[in-house]
Amino acid sequence: MKQEQLTALLKNIVKEEKRILTDKVDLYSYSFDASFGVHVPDIVIQPKSASEVSEIMKLANEHGVPVYPRGQGTGLSGGSLPVNGGIVLDLSKWDERLEVDSEDMVVVVSPGVLTAAINDAALEVGLIYPPDPSSSNVSTIGGNLAENSGGPRGLKYGVTKDYVIGLEVVTPEGEIIRTGGRTVKNVTGYDLTKLIVGSEGTLGVITEATLRLFPKPQATKTMMAVFDDIVYSGKAITKMLSSGILPSKLEIMDNGSIKAVEAYEPLGLPTDAEALLLIELDGHPQAIEDEIRSVEIVCKEAAARDVRVANTTEEATELWRARKLVSPAIVREKPTKISEDATVPRSKIPDMFGRLKEIREKYKVDLVVFGHAGDGNLHPNIIADKRDQEEMRRVEQAVEEIFKAAIELGGTLSGEHGIGTLKAPFMEMELGEVGLDMMKRIKDSWDPNNILNPGKIFPKAGQRLVLTNG
Ligand SMILES: Cc1cc2nc3c(=O)[nH]c(=O)nc-3n(C[C@H](O)[C@H](O)[C@H](O)COP(=O)(O)OP(=O)(O)OC[C@H]3O[C@@H](n4cnc5c(N)ncnc54)[C@H](O)[C@@H]3O)c2cc1C
Repeated sequence: MKQEQLTALLKNIVKEEKRILTDKVDLYSYSFDASFGVHVPDIVIQPKSASEVSEIMKLANEHGVPVYPRGQGTGLSGGSLPVNGGIVLDLSKWDERLEVDSEDMVVVVSPGVLTAAINDAALEVGLIYPPDPSSSNVSTIGGNLAENSGGPRGLKYGVTKDYVIGLEVVTPEGEIIRTGGRTVKNVTGYDLTKLIVGSEGTLGVITEATLRLFPKPQATKTMMAVFDDIVYSGKAITKMLSSGILPSKLEIMDNGSIKAVEAYEPLGLPTDAEALLLIELDGHPQAIEDEIRSVEIVCKEAAARDVRVANTTEEATELWRARKLVSPAIVREKPTKISEDATVPRSKIPDMFGRLKEIREKYKVDLVVFGHAGDGNLHPNIIADKRDQEEMRRVEQAVEEIFKAAIELGGTLSGEHGIGTLKAPFMEMELGEVGLDMMKRIKDSWDPNNILNPGKIFPKAGQRLVLTNG
């Protein structure tokens, strides 16, 4: 269908013209996300109600036009890219509802609310919204729900799916449904809430969510443990967790990330260390003191050369700032960042570090490792220059081998960034033919015309990882 015809039809649904974007410049702004590839949509709509979304979906089904939901476009796997053109539904402007109910300990939100705003609102009444992706200041709750995002606090508190108890969803065929509700317990029928969460915008458009909140911990303390061998830092992680200590955060920075951060903003990190662990403990102040001593013992036994406790809030903030600076710091070295989130069982963390070392040497790539090491969700990041085709081919091979290593160690392709377009070629490697087919059958029954976010999760025949054309 021609853009003019589509625009005319959509104007009957969305009455405010400023929420319909057709200018080339606007369309280009919606052609990429934080991953790879450029795909220009035919039109962008900024809906503000479930009924608008419903009518758009019905229209799209009638005319066979693909629809791509989008939050803030910070996705790292290509989930929001309009790979077949059509309509982009920009849900980031729909952020009016943010209602905290401290008695039920829930919050009801519109899809475009930024995740950090939810936690800020909860804090005002002594509660927290635990899921804390590093992008929480710039990503929407709709995107977090669609990707089932996690963050440092996932180790102790779980990820987005653990906090969703109810959703309003527009189905791919345009029906408005409610799943779950406001109760913590609910076993009425299939758990459609959990099916939608993590479905990467392929099974429904989330138009409202009810999320659980938790009491704010009484106190927190941050520690840093410094290692001369990254494999030993992995041993410290597994030992710490198996000895009954459950930190609220347990993050790793390898030598590459430490050096990059120090070059970006000197914070006094040990640049000769092969790895450092940042550990946050939370709970009752007395219990934290006991745990600090246990963490010190475990880390020293695993050959940590130094273990420090941040004595003030400022010192703790500084350490976490170092972790936050890794991403901006590494892209100063080379412009292209390939951010992976292959995840392994905790016991395999040391093996995964060993495999990553081998991959770095075999393909001669600039591979740095940081991330949520406590739950096995490492972030091997390769920095490269996408204009250098030869380097990018080596990167593609290295990425493929990272996925293989994670799966061979009993892990998964993605702990939190999702499959999107980038990891689709590897789905069968993890799920097997039948497992993947069962997922495809769910997609086909929810979206018989393949209208909602087509081209994602399920690989096309012969599809392979390509990073050279983005
Ligand atoms: C610097 C940086 C740090 C990051 N750190 C983390 C991290 O720590 N943990 C983590 O998990 N991720 C992280 N990410 C990835 C990204 O921020 C998350 O995947 C986030 O949830 C995406 O939100 P978004 O609003 O940008 O969604 P988008 O990127 O716009 O969309 C993501 C997916 O959600 C779908 N979608 C969006 N809104 C809706 C909706 N309302 N209904 C249905 N589908 C929808 C889209 O179709 C797409 O498939 C990071 C990204 C960057 C750039």
